[in-house]
Amino acid sequence: MKPVNFGIDLGTTNSLIAKYEHNKVRVYKNPIGLKETLPSVVAFRKDRTLIGEKAREYLTKDAVNVFGGFKRKMGTDEKYYVVNLDENVTPIELSTMVLKELKNFVQEQEPMEACVITIPASFDSMQSNATLQAGKAAGFKEVFLLQEPIAASLAYFNANGSSDVKNDGYRLVYDFGGGTFDVALVKSTQDDLKVIDHEGNNFLGGMDLDFAIIEKIIVPAIVQQTQIDNFEEDFRTKFGKYESLYYQVLYYAEEAKKELSNSNKTEIEFSATLNDVAYDFYIPITRQQIDDIFAPIIQETIQLIQKILVNNELVATDINEIILVGGSTYLPQVREQLAAQTGIAINYSIDPTTSIAVGAAYYAANKYYEPSAILSSETTEQKAGSIADDLLATVDFNDTDIEMVLSYNKSTRDKEEVLIMQCNGAYENCTYRIYRADGGFDTGHVPLKAKKTEFLPLLAENVNIFNLQIFDAAQNEIKRLSQQLQIAQGIYNIDGQPLPHDICIEVDDVENKTTKLEVVFERNSLLPQKRTLYREISKTIKKGADDSIIINILEGDKSSRASSNLTIGCINISGKDLQSDLIKGSDIEIQIHITDSRILNTVVYLVMTQQEFKNVFSISEKQISVARLKEQYILLENEISDNIREFQYNEDKIWEINANTYLEELQSLQPRLFKLKDNDASDDKYIIAEKMARISQNADKLGGNERIAGLLETYLQRKEETAALIAAADFEKDELLKQLQKLEQSEASFMRSKNASVIEGKLRQLHDLYWKGLSNTTSFLISIFIEYKSYEPIAFKDYNAAKSIFKMADAALTSERYPEFRRHVFSLSNLLKRSDLNTHIDFKGTGIG
Ligand code: ADP
Ligand code: MG
Repeated sequence: MKPVNFGIDLGTTNSLIAKYEHNKVRVYKNPIGLKETLPSVVAFRKDRTLIGEKAREYLTKDAVNVFGGFKRKMGTDEKYYVVNLDENVTPIELSTMVLKELKNFVQEQEPMEACVITIPASFDSMQSNATLQAGKAAGFKEVFLLQEPIAASLAYFNANGSSDVKNDGYRLVYDFGGGTFDVALVKSTQDDLKVIDHEGNNFLGGMDLDFAIIEKIIVPAIVQQTQIDNFEEDFRTKFGKYESLYYQVLYYAEEAKKELSNSNKTEIEFSATLNDVAYDFYIPITRQQIDDIFAPIIQETIQLIQKILVNNELVATDINEIILVGGSTYLPQVREQLAAQTGIAINYSIDPTTSIAVGAAYYAANKYYEPSAILSSETTEQKAGSIADDLLATVDFNDTDIEMVLSYNKSTRDKEEVLIMQCNGAYENCTYRIYRADGGFDTGHVPLKAKKTEFLPLLAENVNIFNLQIFDAAQNEIKRLSQQLQIAQGIYNIDGQPLPHDICIEVDDVENKTTKLEVVFERNSLLPQKRTLYREISKTIKKGADDSIIINILEGDKSSRASSNLTIGCINISGKDLQSDLIKGSDIEIQIHITDSRILNTVVYLVMTQQEFKNVFSISEKQISVARLKEQYILLENEISDNIREFQYNEDKIWEINANTYLEELQSLQPRLFKLKDNDASDDKYIIAEKMARISQNADKLGGNERIAGLLETYLQRKEETAALIAAADFEKDELLKQLQKLEQSEASFMRSKNASVIEGKLRQLHDLYWKGLSNTTSFLISIFIEYKSYEPIAFKDYNAAKSIFKMADAALTSERYPEFRRHVFSLSNLLKRSDLNTHIDFKGTGIG
């Protein structure tokens, strides 16, 4: 095993590479230009490809062939069209090019086989997997992912010296980069560092500040000078006639912004020919001007800070300091606005540009991999997962005669480390010797035993290297068993990375003809995680039948509806896969394992047929059930349509308009979705699923807190009405009461969810219960019976049958035989062409109860 050592910050705007060596971190410089940062920009010229600074400069010359900001598109199916090549490139391919260029920074002999790459804490599994793929494609055999706030924390804590007792407590890591904003809540003690929670916005960064300068300062100046009609609209149009100018101006805006971090005024000067007229522009910009423009954008970051505090029941005084990272924190205004509004001390002691890469290198110092000579035939991806699983190294040696397992911590804040050696086989008469590389410790020759413990003394604040040698009876070294152990003392490390989103499984809610999410792993639980669920099959599936059960693993928010989440793994077991019939109520065992690098392994065992189904999910193998997707589509369409009616009724005009937009967006997917066969091999289902998830989330968020408050108010009011109705019911009172109580029990959790669709689901249940209450109330039954009698014959499926039931019902009513009368009313309702006492949806669900 060798330490990975290389850490890479694959940023939206800038990327860097660093290495942990000789007890410190070195950030590599570009051999060309000698800068540490490599702009994450790729330019395709006809004759060659440019990466980095040169590519960024090329933006002003030939924007259509230059690509930046692609990190924002990782994990999506979006492709970029390169005019010069007449080809599409993907975000993964572009990232691969940046990574390969970073490798060139390292002009060392040894091969670079493994690295740690940082990702925003909010990256979902698709985005994480896309990053892993880019790493592999760049030639790294082993890639480990690390969340950026953890990297920043490691850089901060390791830079500030372990003796600083003030390290105890809570801190916020505020990372304001070029394309993303992230804030993480970190808790530290003398020996331990934990990320408790994070908030972020993948679409909020320095770029947005640049856009704001263009919109608020540059465009008005151009319009004023040129008097061109519709200039702004044309200027923003993708591939429009001013595109090249747009990118030029974007470049100038960014440069001006950076300059204003150090001075109070600057100016943008450029010449351009617009509609065949040549212009020279001179646009002065002051710091006051940008302060005003940036304030609302910076305010958004502060709102996320407030959110993270509220969610964790903390107040500003609980926080020691805010640690700043990311290029946008160079702006004095960011620091001033943060300090003024939060009252928390601001700490900008670490370099905002390099700290993520430095932290990644610290992490990499404690990540181990097998150099390729020893790499087994197991897929590297699975391997990466299993190695990533523990900070505890267990090294297996497999000699023909001796088998040896070592356990020790590769990083510790203790003064010594316990090494446990376990031996099997012909170790009799063999000896071992362990010595520290600096010569400060040596065990001498010690006889091997089945189990042996050694206490290894550590040099403080150092990576301690120990050589372990094994000797046979003749004191010849058994080279194959000898090994170097590296133990880092005093380096802060992290126990495990928190899961950024809930991971859930979709199960049936048969009673309500829908599905619900059950949490498998809660957000913020530390990776890796493993769990086995025991459930029942909720419908019988005959051997050979078309019907199937669907194990759908989703990532997102546990309190939202299934369609708002991303499917990250799916196993579809159809009747055709079964060796015998699968009976409703039989057991299913679902084992779910998620690694540090967020690779998901699922094993499903059907107890009844004794069959096992396995899957390792990664982006390329990801499966989505088309059947389930279609059903989700229908549910979502119904829900949004219901919302629209509700908004219309309440005269919530704006919400109605927005909901209509979502509905149209959804319906535009319908032809493509319903054309798909279950075994469709194209990417369409992923694209549709992703779009549906986004629409579903937007529909949920519509109206914000105001809508939630309204819904909760309606819920409480209807609950009171329903309770009163049930109290006065003439039949099945106990059963109805039980159902109401059940609903009440779930109240606390769904009220907390603050999720519109979840509350609406509960409202529907309440509505159903209200109807049940009515249909068990004699007075209502009488009124509806009178109404049925007034219907035209055409309203009934069989009017003769209805007539005879009218007669029997009349008789029952006259002689006060109410239970019988109730049965007759129900029969009549079933005879109606449009039944109003019970509605019918054909619900298929997942098959898992
Ligand atoms: P990312 O993490 O997105 O790769 P960085 O942390 O490198 O980004 O930050 C890049 C952003 O920082 C860019 O938007 C850039 O304009 C901005 N930036 C860099 N230096 C300064 C500066 N001196 N003043 C203001 N903004 C800056
Ligand atoms: Mg960054």
